[in-house]
Amino acid sequence: MIIDYRSDTVTKPGKEMLEAMFSAPVGDDVFGEDPSINSLETLSAEMFGMENALFCPSGTMTNQIAIKCHTQPGDEVICDTSSHIYQYEGGGIASNSGASVKLLNGNRGRLTAAEVSGGINADDIHKARTTLVSLENTSNRGGGSCYEMEELKSIRKVCDEHNLILHLDGARLFNALVAKEQSAKEYGETFHSISICLSKSLGCPVGSLVIGTKDFISKARRVRKAFGGGMRQAGHLAAAGIYALKNNIDRLTIDHQHAQLLAEALRKKDFVGEVLPVETNIVIFSVKDIFTPVSLVAKMKEEGIYWYAISPTQVRIVTHLDVTPAMIQQTIDVIDSL
Ligand SMILES: *Cc1c(COP(=O)(O)O)cnc(C)c1O
Repeated sequence: MIIDYRSDTVTKPGKEMLEAMFSAPVGDDVFGEDPSINSLETLSAEMFGMENALFCPSGTMTNQIAIKCHTQPGDEVICDTSSHIYQYEGGGIASNSGASVKLLNGNRGRLTAAEVSGGINADDIHKARTTLVSLENTSNRGGGSCYEMEELKSIRKVCDEHNLILHLDGARLFNALVAKEQSAKEYGETFHSISICLSKSLGCPVGSLVIGTKDFISKARRVRKAFGGGMRQAGHLAAAGIYALKNNIDRLTIDHQHAQLLAEALRKKDFVGEVLPVETNIVIFSVKDIFTPVSLVAKMKEEGIYWYAISPTQVRIVTHLDVTPAMIQQTIDVIDSL
């Protein structure tokens, strides 16, 4: 048996999710006629107290659509250096939107209001026009770190003072909501647009949503078509999303507890250096002495346990829906034996 911790994207739909997908009513979504997609868009917008939402194939597409809608070529986007929109979206900010970036070095992927404020360009013809701030919660490279609501509100205040749009890459936002006991509606009030992934910790095979005002979503729908993301009878996929939003959010606490247990076992080992604080379902730790990240990952693979070397010094483990308590115990036993 393989225990796969490389990402929370490796989950496979279970019987109940598959049944929901199988029996979903569908139609042509480019004509706006897929009832399951329409329901998912309404459901997700309502969760965040926002006006509308758009179902897309990936979180890369929802982020890139948002950036395209919120900027003009030559504008500048403020984000953390480690952010997914900059590091892992194929240079899309430049190629899709012709926008420039101001990279800030936050604390485990999180920016403060003061840092954002300091990153805004002066109104000067030499400078790119700062128009958009994009935050990530939880932060992937920050080891699943979460924002405090107070900081997010302070950042929004800075944005309002400078006429900037505030976007959230919430690929793992539900992990943050559960870990911090925050309300989705408060996020809806704080951000102009929010991207969420159904394909990560919520366990769907495919799908992301971008959420915002009616006007923004109308614009986003045009951009999605131009990006080649218009889908037809994708209601079978949307049905998985509806199932996940109704059934797979509260259980994220289990994934978070599992991550804590693994981190605890790792901290006892001499070959483990710094373990980043574990706030949600991600454990990032540095490796030293008898192992390198690559040799440790290879050693674990021999035991049927898949980890991921994310840098020359660090390994990442992600817990998810398909990791059972028995698998966690088996993994801890292997860690103890190293
Ligand atoms: C996974 C992820 C995305 C989107 O990834 P896709 O694979 O395109 O769905 C966006 N942001 C963050 C932080 C992610 O971890």
